[in-house]
Amino acid sequence: MPKCSIITRVFLATAMLAPVAVADTQVKIIAFNDFHGNLFSAGNVADVPVGGVDVFAAYVDKLRAQNPYNVVVSAGDLIGASPLVSALFHDEPTIEVMNRLRLEFNAVGNHEFDEGTDELLRMQHGGCHPDDANTCQGAIVGTPVPFEGAQFGFLAANVVNEQTGDTLFPAYGTKAFGDHEIAFIGLTLEGTPNVVLAEGIRTLQFKDEAETINALVPEIRARGIEAIVVLIHEGGLRPTAFGEYNTCLDDIMSSDLVMPIAEIVAQLDDAVDLVITGHSPVAYNCRIPNSVGRLIPVTHAQGAASVVTDIDVLIDDASGDIVDITLKNVLVVQDESVMPVPDITRLIHAYSDLAQPLADRVIGVMSAAVTRSNDASNGQSDAGNMVADAQLAATQSPETGGAQLALMNSGGVRANMSAELYPGYITYGAIYSMQPFGNSLVTMTYTARQLKDVLEQQFPGCLGRRQRTILQVSAGFSYQFDESAPECNRIVEMSLNGTRLVQAGELLDADLPIRVTINNFIADGGDGFSTLGVGTDRLAGVLDIDALERYLERFSDGDSAYNPDADSLGKPRVLSLPLAQ
Ligand SMILES: [Zn+2]
Repeated sequence: MPKCSIITRVFLATAMLAPVAVADTQVKIIAFNDFHGNLFSAGNVADVPVGGVDVFAAYVDKLRAQNPYNVVVSAGDLIGASPLVSALFHDEPTIEVMNRLRLEFNAVGNHEFDEGTDELLRMQHGGCHPDDANTCQGAIVGTPVPFEGAQFGFLAANVVNEQTGDTLFPAYGTKAFGDHEIAFIGLTLEGTPNVVLAEGIRTLQFKDEAETINALVPEIRARGIEAIVVLIHEGGLRPTAFGEYNTCLDDIMSSDLVMPIAEIVAQLDDAVDLVITGHSPVAYNCRIPNSVGRLIPVTHAQGAASVVTDIDVLIDDASGDIVDITLKNVLVVQDESVMPVPDITRLIHAYSDLAQPLADRVIGVMSAAVTRSNDASNGQSDAGNMVADAQLAATQSPETGGAQLALMNSGGVRANMSAELYPGYITYGAIYSMQPFGNSLVTMTYTARQLKDVLEQQFPGCLGRRQRTILQVSAGFSYQFDESAPECNRIVEMSLNGTRLVQAGELLDADLPIRVTINNFIADGGDGFSTLGVGTDRLAGVLDIDALERYLERFSDGDSAYNPDADSLGKPRVLSLPLAQ
């Protein structure tokens, strides 16, 4: 927090004609978040090809070269929900690449817990996976065997062992720059237990973020450190404006759906100087009021190494505190002027070669292509039906959730399974391309009225919806809508396994409880489905990719090939009433 302004000090120095210039310390912080194992480019941002971790590493090197006082930090979800080339090897490739990129601190995100605590500890400390021979491939790719573990520090101030009260990883890390140190406090999403499997985090407690930060401030200051930066895996969800990676929309703090991070910052001790965030699908560069109303910088790069945050902080030599911060989000553009870092290029290609045969592993057989192109009238696709059916199957038994139906966001179905590409065979690579996000399934109870509300929120004008966003539904559930009806009154029929729930627009038993499976993305308000947030008796389930694999294993030979046109599957589940004659 500023104790005296730089301008004043410079002015005084000049006025006194002091022979020695004021030597405040400038530090460059290079930040990113939500890398999610994207060793190769995840695509375009604002129509420009971005990312590829070897290109990203070149950007980091370029920034690092601007100031010998520098530090590279990550705000979580470094691993987990990764593309196949990292996921197949339990994200060892990502850790190895980050070691070579010289990452220094990573606040643990929710996805770091996807494979449970023991596996996360292995990511830090090294060693081979206990029962997957795909790991520890160093002899082939040219890295140490056993797996070396992260040479950077995982941080998790608010994740504690229930029995001992100890944090799973250090609460904060420090780095010295000349005579000064900066403390980096790392936190994960308090809501992590809602989005990962309970089994993997059984002994852990996830504590309130702001309380945890504030409680650490006296300890850090007692060590003589005034410069305090928070790395937190929590952010804001901006339903629109993708591609505006270096702005802070005015409405970012006003909508109900956005900015849980704003609530956290509003409680923060004024000693915290900067908040580097993660977990949001979009980048932002904001200033948000803290507990005394001072605006502090709150940043979020776009994930998958497509944006890096370039931050310059000025430390006052007298107080040791940060007195000025300038920052910008920089697009990691692939162009000819940027030379990818060769060692990293070589490493990721070695893993990619190794992954190929595993990607070609056959899961099942299909009799026709399964496409994700939505029917213009009812918004349904064959691939959407298949994914929803797989999610229902994985959560139908009482132990796995007792689900009666599944709803899937259309945008989460990422690729077709094409008969040309995979003649008859469904490969692991193909289903991974279709479901690459590593979302986990959750089953919750909704009343029939709440379920109808969810369906109503698909259509423009209802509960903040701007454009039609139709969910994919599992077999056995069907409904009919009339787009010409008034907003929030468009569902005219709805039935579940032959039981009518809505007739002529009227609910027949509004309080009837129904178990519904969705993925954690839409459960948390993704795609604008705030109505899905009201579910109760939440049970976390398996990863979406595992659900799809298990489902398609049933279609194992030519006689039982998966056929998207089969009567039981292809029958329209959603009907659009013809527009007014
Ligand atoms: Zn996250």
